[in-house]
Amino acid sequence: MSIVDKDRLKKLAADERFIAGIYNYCDRWCERCPQTSRCLNFSFSEEEFSDPEAQDIRNKAFWDKLSGIFEEALELLKEGAEKWGIELEMLESTDDIEHVKAKDAAVESHLLCRAAKGYSKRVEDWFSGRETLFFEIATAAKEGVSLEEAIEVIRWYQYFICAKVMRAVRGSLEDEEEGYDEFPSDSDGSAKIALIAIDRSIAAWAVIQCYITDSDKGVVDGIAFLDSLRQAVEETFPRARSFIRPGFDEIDLNR
Ligand code: SF4
Repeated sequence: MSIVDKDRLKKLAADERFIAGIYNYCDRWCERCPQTSRCLNFSFSEEEFSDPEAQDIRNKAFWDKLSGIFEEALELLKEGAEKWGIELEMLESTDDIEHVKAKDAAVESHLLCRAAKGYSKRVEDWFSGRETLFFEIATAAKEGVSLEEAIEVIRWYQYFICAKVMRAVRGSLEDEEEGYDEFPSDSDGSAKIALIAIDRSIAAWAVIQCYITDSDKGVVDGIAFLDSLRQAVEETFPRARSFIRPGFDEIDLNR
């Protein structure tokens, strides 16, 4: 028996207070999101996982619940596909599998993706072994932007940037294949949220720079690396900054 009530999910989805697709180009940092009340994804998660037992991801109830959601999602997908006459194909042929593998390889080897992945590793390397130092500084710092918050920002986006850059690259390769060149595209949206994450990470690194004297210039090198990545993403996706994310970006009526 499925745990999730499909009708309730449909009812929730029809609620006008939610902004359609707001969660598609956000940074998934719900704790810090100013739009939780307008987000279906957030409300649904709150309802489903609000009891302490289900919040524990190690708890069996959590995984059962997740499995229930998956089943319901498949059912809704099938219903939607039937309604709109869409054929849900399975990737069965060897050609399809080879095609997906080739695309995966193309995304992995793309310069932007390798650079973004390199950034994730740089962050990991830089932080390892410095925990004690940070603890001492964080205890001493009482005013201004907290070091802990800056670290939190960098850690939040450490892998997020790479994931979004890869999604953007994959999307643009697919668009190229299909001869699609419309704006806005999903790859522009993904590139935009990656750029926002890069901007915020640069700012957070600058905060860290104020707190520590890093004799090996690791922080400055990190900022420079991130800034090059930012420029490369902007060059590859020149329209990304103009992408309007539902619920987050104002539409400029003077354009
Ligand atoms: S829009 Fe906000 S609340 Fe919704 S998933 Fe994204 S970060 Fe979380």
